[in-house]
Amino acid sequence: MSVHHPERSPAETAGEGTPTQVRHEAFRRRTFAVISHPDAGKSTLTEALALHAHVIEEAGATHGKASRRSTVSDWMQMEQERGISISSAALQFTYRDTVFNLLDTPGHADFSEDTYRVLAAVDCAVMLIDAAKGLETQTLKLFDVCARRGLPVITVINKWDRPGKDALELIDEVQQRTGRTPVPLSWPVGLSGDFRGTLDPRTRAYTRYRRMAAGAALAETEVFAPEQAAELEGAAWTEAVETAALVAESNGAFELEAFRAAESTPVLFVAAAMNFGVATLLDVLVDLAPPAGPRPDADGTPRPVEAPFSGFVFKLQAGMDRAHRDHVAFLRVCSGVFHRGMVLTHAATGKPFATKYAHHVFGRDRETIDVAFPGDVVGLVNASALRAGDSVYVGTPVTFPPIPHFSPEHFQVARAVDAGRAKQFRRGITQLELEGVIQVLRSETRGDQAPVLAAVGPMQFEVVADRMDREFGAQVRLEALPYTLARRVIAPDPEVLNRIPGTEVLRRADGEPIAVFTDKWKLGRVATHAPEVALEPIGGDLD
Ligand code: GDP
Repeated sequence: MSVHHPERSPAETAGEGTPTQVRHEAFRRRTFAVISHPDAGKSTLTEALALHAHVIEEAGATHGKASRRSTVSDWMQMEQERGISISSAALQFTYRDTVFNLLDTPGHADFSEDTYRVLAAVDCAVMLIDAAKGLETQTLKLFDVCARRGLPVITVINKWDRPGKDALELIDEVQQRTGRTPVPLSWPVGLSGDFRGTLDPRTRAYTRYRRMAAGAALAETEVFAPEQAAELEGAAWTEAVETAALVAESNGAFELEAFRAAESTPVLFVAAAMNFGVATLLDVLVDLAPPAGPRPDADGTPRPVEAPFSGFVFKLQAGMDRAHRDHVAFLRVCSGVFHRGMVLTHAATGKPFATKYAHHVFGRDRETIDVAFPGDVVGLVNASALRAGDSVYVGTPVTFPPIPHFSPEHFQVARAVDAGRAKQFRRGITQLELEGVIQVLRSETRGDQAPVLAAVGPMQFEVVADRMDREFGAQVRLEALPYTLARRVIAPDPEVLNRIPGTEVLRRADGEPIAVFTDKWKLGRVATHAPEVALEPIGGDLD
């Protein structure tokens, strides 16, 4: 098929590729994130997945030789050393001819706003649950964000090698508290703390796991027919068969449509640290997780994957490399082919944007990207013109929906320590706001020299203070405000809310009036004191 359009510029032509090729590449992409309450084993599973794929793909690799340290740990260490903000980037690996893009999310719940943004760029989420703890605060918040995005979720119950809750109890929790019907695709044989293997409820085959030497990248697995399993495992097998049947009876068989429509969630039982069940998860991702598909634009019209290149920025990161003061914009490719060097149009300004430096970024590792397909993540270096949520395209214009704002719960006023550095102060605050490091709320009463910083997690303030000082040469003094809630105001005159004690109206950079409240009682008073005012939860608001 010819793709040459003489009326187009070389860059546009380069952005096409044959439609069949692009569809094929998109179809074999799985773009996902592993999310969880801290400590559920996200980093352990991320390493296990990458190593698993790597070890299997590398022809002749000696099992057990691959070192866990080399891949992900460097990046983890950087996070620890710096103790502050980290980079969300992507790890790409291949398994069964499928290209996985595993988007990284911060480990600390204080940076959950970054995690929520990453969820705007993936096609599926793997939700990790600690078998001993069940659903925790952050697990529920994340399930909620996924529900708002209509994102399919694979639920993975981890640490089954340790004593924990009962499998049925965990299934029940998922059922009661997530709004999705849990459908197990693997069922543990042996109680938590005695993980022998898993039953596949669909085929009734038994996969037995054996531990390999410490640090090994793979577990030893053997598959048995049900009769053999009964002989091998006795009561543990019978128990597994019976309990799995109970769940199947009440929740039904797995249906792809229901999973993709975010109505049901497949459940797997694993022990990431032992590599038990990791291969099963990879297989489920290959066989069931949605491939990169047409993305709806801001008006809801899907842009086909074979359309000319388009993508949107889901994350900005500055200062990853302090020596170079770089700005990296992470872009999810939505359609077409990305070629390094191509000139994109920045939808927000209509200006051309050159892509001389395009990288895969994972921690310290940077690799130049020459070509990328729908579902892939490209890190554009020196991209200070791009903001989070911005769309870029070649050829037919497109604007993707903005990344939602998330409801802040912590508020502090920022002031320059040295009044003589007001210019640096303003420049720094604006830059950090654009990057999405923090939300900035302003009012005429407070003035430009004392904006209100609004955060989802308090550590965001530390990042601001650190970067203002180091990068912008403007030390800041932060003063906590007693507010805990924010709402968008819809009213002819939002300022009336300023008359209610414990309430204040501020403006976001996009001009939206945002009311902040000390507590829900003050929020409740709006109905009686200013009945003409309507309040709306903010974007991904979680209450
Ligand atoms: P994260 O905070 O979600 O990234 O969690 P980590 O991957 O750092 O894991 C938290 C702790 O749980 C670490 O001490 C891990 O070694 C441990 N852990 C993770 N997966 C497993 C598992 O499958 N079994 C056991 N016993 N421990 C695990």
